[in-house]
Amino acid sequence: MEKIKNYIGGEFTDPSSGRYIENFNPSRGAAYSLVAGSNENDVKLAFAAAQAAQPAWAALHVEERARYLRALSEAILEQLDELARAESIDNGKPIRLSRSLDIPRSAKNLRFFADAITQFHGEFFRDDSSTSAVTYSPLGVVATISPWNLPLYLLTWKIAPALAAGNAVIAKPSEVTPYTAFMLAKIARDVGFPAGVLNIVHGEGADVGAALVKHPGIKAISFTGSTATGRQIAQMAAGDFKKYSLEMGGKNPNIIFADCDFEKALETTMRSTFANQGQICLCGSRILIEKEIYEKFRDGLVERAKALRLGDPLNDSTEQGAVVSEPHMKKILHYIELAKKEGGKILCGGERAILPGELKNGYFIQPTLIEGLKPNSSCNQDEIFGPVATLIPFENENEAIEIANGTRYGLSASLWSNDVSRCDRVANALNAGVVWINSWMVRDLRTPFGGVKESGVGREGGELALRFFSEVKTISRPNGQGQSKA
Ligand code: NAD
Repeated sequence: MEKIKNYIGGEFTDPSSGRYIENFNPSRGAAYSLVAGSNENDVKLAFAAAQAAQPAWAALHVEERARYLRALSEAILEQLDELARAESIDNGKPIRLSRSLDIPRSAKNLRFFADAITQFHGEFFRDDSSTSAVTYSPLGVVATISPWNLPLYLLTWKIAPALAAGNAVIAKPSEVTPYTAFMLAKIARDVGFPAGVLNIVHGEGADVGAALVKHPGIKAISFTGSTATGRQIAQMAAGDFKKYSLEMGGKNPNIIFADCDFEKALETTMRSTFANQGQICLCGSRILIEKEIYEKFRDGLVERAKALRLGDPLNDSTEQGAVVSEPHMKKILHYIELAKKEGGKILCGGERAILPGELKNGYFIQPTLIEGLKPNSSCNQDEIFGPVATLIPFENENEAIEIANGTRYGLSASLWSNDVSRCDRVANALNAGVVWINSWMVRDLRTPFGGVKESGVGREGGELALRFFSEVKTISRPNGQGQSKA
């Protein structure tokens, strides 16, 4: 089987332990490649390579760094089909999604930060007595840790600002979906990225992920993943006062008011619930529906969910692929069973789907909608992260806000109403880092992105990401000193 190796100092290397882990194709339910099971030693090697390369990288003119990032971005687009196919094999997502979202957005992340760094600047303050300059400089060596749901998309979302700001990076992709990161390493080498500036170390979180967080020379950790892991990272990083940014889980509400544009709300709610088999941190997993239209909206959702085409992720017509792994499939099915025990009624789905032929061992789950659960039930409180959503009727605006805010998460929310004042009121009252009005997943990369409560610490996006990956210094002097006498 093909070996997914580490990329350290511009070379593809075996993990120092020699250990490889099986990498699965979730739609076939079978291992198809092996991924490096790296450990602390590999982190040390990657750090040494990154540390050696960083000063020259930081010394490049920003236009020059931007040129490298653009070259990476363009090379990704040139290999769009190959990358999309690889992402779908590795993750189980429909190819139309990898082709339209994952890979184009990966290229866009790099291009966006290539452009952004050329506009990034320090600040200058002057009052009656003093003048201060605020400068931003690279941190040094930084690490990124990313999840399996949008593998290349989220990896590039992190490495792009880190590299643009002049840091050398050690990236750790999810061990569950390492393949496109491996391809990216080859692309970086082929476009002539300076050796050691971008290093990719593969392996399990508890080994290589934790070693990155604990490494004393690594100045910042940018993490996206579950809240449980984020909490561990925060604890590990606290000892060294390491900078961290955490993008974590969610239990996002879709709030549907009776006065909404019904068809648009229905169609978008379907997408926001089931896109990527519900495995996007921004997916709405609790659908709150005003009582007046509850039955009609519910029936519309159920009819559409039943019609979703499950199938081979590599087939262009497939709308629902496989979930990412066997343990994850079991977790989702466990929650469906729990929902039944907690008094929920399964409106559609509720089972593993066994597909014919070579897909028979794949990890497919029927799109599932559940009603009748109390807002405080496990399935309305815990992140399930699969093609499963609950339907909750509400009486009025205040009740909708109370239910929407009644979890420990606060990543995003989507609300649907044609009453502009209500949209404004509800958006302001929601405890979420991102709120979409009459829409979902609208992303302007210049805007801050992140969650509140247990969904996140810090914000990514635009200038905030460049600032996160920079050291800030204020240099002040009294007015009239050191200035030209002319
Ligand atoms: P995860 O927390 O299991 O793993 C994420 C990454 O952390 C992986 O690379 C993993 O190897 C690593 N890791 C695991 N244990 C570690 C440790 N002890 N130290 C250091 N690193 C460790 O998450 P996942 O299952 O890969 O991803 C799904 C989760 O990600 C969901 O909770 C989802 O909501 C969240 N997510 C959040 C966002 C966001 O922007 N807020 C985006 C996508 C996914």
